[in-house]
Amino acid sequence: MSTGRTSRGVEEHVAAVLAHVAPLVAVDVGLAGLAVGEPGLVLAGDLHAEAAVPPFDAAAMDGYAVRLADLPPDGTPVTLPVVGDSRPGSPAHRCERAMGPASAGAEGASPAHSVTGVVRIMTGAPVPAWADAVVPVERTSTGRFVAGSPTTEHEVTLARQPRAHVRRRAEDVAPGDLLARAGSAVTPALVAVAASGGLTTLPVRRRPRVAVLSTGSELLPAGAGADTTDSGRIPDSNSLLLAALVRAAGADAVRTGAVPDDADALRAALDHAVSGRSAPSDGVEGGARPPPAAREVDLVVTTGGVSAGASDVVRAVLATPDDRLRAVEVAAVALRPGHPQALARWRDVPWLALPGNPVSAFVSFALFVRPAIDALAGRAPDVRTLRRRSASAWSSPPGRVHVVPVRTLASGDVEHVVGPAGHASSALLGADALAVVPADVEKVAVGDELDVLPLDGVPPGRHA
Ligand code: AMP
Ligand code: MG
Repeated sequence: MSTGRTSRGVEEHVAAVLAHVAPLVAVDVGLAGLAVGEPGLVLAGDLHAEAAVPPFDAAAMDGYAVRLADLPPDGTPVTLPVVGDSRPGSPAHRCERAMGPASAGAEGASPAHSVTGVVRIMTGAPVPAWADAVVPVERTSTGRFVAGSPTTEHEVTLARQPRAHVRRRAEDVAPGDLLARAGSAVTPALVAVAASGGLTTLPVRRRPRVAVLSTGSELLPAGAGADTTDSGRIPDSNSLLLAALVRAAGADAVRTGAVPDDADALRAALDHAVSGRSAPSDGVEGGARPPPAAREVDLVVTTGGVSAGASDVVRAVLATPDDRLRAVEVAAVALRPGHPQALARWRDVPWLALPGNPVSAFVSFALFVRPAIDALAGRAPDVRTLRRRSASAWSSPPGRVHVVPVRTLASGDVEHVVGPAGHASSALLGADALAVVPADVEKVAVGDELDVLPLDGVPPGRHA
């Protein structure tokens, strides 16, 4: 097994990450189940309507269905017999009969009816084939219908109206119309439109599940407070950071706790992580609900130990042959921060190994993990960068893509956020985006155009 690193650019590494993950299996789920089902599902195929919406010409108002030929074009009122009723849910043919037999004329010829008259009709009810318009009841001598009472009027005086008040068959959606593309989120509106369009199931991919694992003998459990005994230990902040970023990216996160810089401990922790079980003290990051039953994860993300130091446990595990380990790629990516990166499969689950520095981990998430989650979910690669003008000047390392936390000002320009100690994680607190400065740029001047990646869950201008 090779222990060497491959030097590559950011785009090359993104391509390697995408080649490393495959979309989750698509399943057909019944619409009735989806209506109350889990959020975060993604459509696995293009969705076409099977039925027309509306499925028949329907009244858009309560009133009377009329034949325009019976109403003078100049708007003079006429009095006509009420010959039938069309209620929502009643078949249209009942009102066809009410108008008497149509002549057996040539196809396409308008049928001649034995009776001149109108049909009482309620909103949503089928408009008879012979009728062209609905005259709203408030524009007629009836004035209004009384809810729940039988309607008994035998004739009505009405006149031609400027609008037809008929929702034509298929005016909203025609059979075969594209309702949504593969990769769209399954939203409440999509479920409703699919039901209206006559569909019974949707092809979906479930929300990806991502295990998050921190490495480092210096790490105390996340959120357990600081150590006051001068032991050289620090809280594990990365697993909280990454779990929150995973959730903001539309996946479920399972934190499996921090492991010390010990190769056997890391192998055991990876076995535990791919099984989908969280650490005893941790949980699935889903708020107050109880953790769901263990289910295999689709991706493992580790932080730390990926450099070439003596305690770099991820490198040690990646360099040692093991039946559970395959497809190892260790890369020196032309990127700052986030230079050392690695990919592998552990028990056939894709594993992305990020550096441990919290800002490096953050940048690595935005550039590499987020696209991997999108790919698992079957979402089209999302071109998320925006063009923004820089309000600051800084120098960039030659030959490396420089990723810089920035904040959007009221003007729309972006300002370099500098933490109290330069590239400190506190700089991220004030950022709403990351500027991605190409490798061949060594100086950014005020007014230069930059590509910026908005940060998940942080509205632009939030920190301005
Ligand atoms: P490493 O990539 O393991 O060499 O770690 C680089 C730096 O990031 C070291 O100063 C670590 O202490 C710090 N670090 C690593 N993992 C974490 C973590 N989970 N939370 C906070 N800081 C970390
Ligand atoms: Mg470490």
